[in-house]
Amino acid sequence: MELTSSKIISNFIWINGNFVEKSEANIDLLTHSLHYGGAVFEGERSYNGKIFKLDEHTDRLIESAKLMHIDINWSRDEINEATIATLKKNNLKNAYIRPLIWRSSNSLMAYNNSLKSNLMIMAMESNPAFKNDLKLFLSPWKKISANSMPAQSKSSAHYAMATISKKIAQDYGCSDALLLDEFDNIAECSTSNIFFGNDKELVTPIADRFLNGITRKTIIEIAKSCGISVKEKRLTINDICKYNSCFTTGTSAEIKGVISISTENEIINFPNNKITIALQEKYKEITGKTT
Ligand code: PMP
Repeated sequence: MELTSSKIISNFIWINGNFVEKSEANIDLLTHSLHYGGAVFEGERSYNGKIFKLDEHTDRLIESAKLMHIDINWSRDEINEATIATLKKNNLKNAYIRPLIWRSSNSLMAYNNSLKSNLMIMAMESNPAFKNDLKLFLSPWKKISANSMPAQSKSSAHYAMATISKKIAQDYGCSDALLLDEFDNIAECSTSNIFFGNDKELVTPIADRFLNGITRKTIIEIAKSCGISVKEKRLTINDICKYNSCFTTGTSAEIKGVISISTENEIINFPNNKITIALQEKYKEITGKTT
């Protein structure tokens, strides 16, 4: 996510049904999720005051919690209402929104039945322009096996290796990491999905071993409606050399053009961003994005 601490985080954070001033919104150092990754979250965007695909994000939040065996005390409607209220309370129109469910308890046991589930929602102003200059670095780390953690849960626990992969990519002068799955097929980037193509067709990895992003699904729909063929298939690094376009998708990242992927042995270039720009224009239309 391209959001840094320099962005202004909401003055009021919604926590378990109440708005709390940011300065008062603290957690105990023994909070279980801080030690054991027991949290699930969402990343949402509002455009001119309207949250894009709010129902889909809330449903995924609930599903993520279920997959991680975290109880939820809130219904879909209550979470939607609280999310909209957080935006309004903080007077934000174009924002990045972060709902997070976490396990709290002053216990250092891996699990005990005193663990409580909490929900917080915060938002920050964010209105980036599209960028088409992404350089990716092939991570030496692979995605965790789909049998080891539920791949479709947006669980904090997944992000530990995304973080080190992105750090390694930045150490090599790139902006983000591209990750392979355990079978050496291309999976996704640290916090976004990936597409390859040329002017007439797109391909994207089958999203059964990593998060099937909401933006990924939206882009597949948009592309098909524009007469562009989209195939979901297993892809290796060798397979992608025949494409001249590449872009990543995500709620925070939106659609970002990739100019190169650096591997240990080579740099693969993607000089054609025609299809990326065409899809960005369509994405603006459907989201209401103005920048
Ligand atoms: N993969 C990962 C690991 C992510 O964190 C994200 C961002 N949520 C995505 C893909 C893209 O998902 P979405 O389009 O739903 O934001």
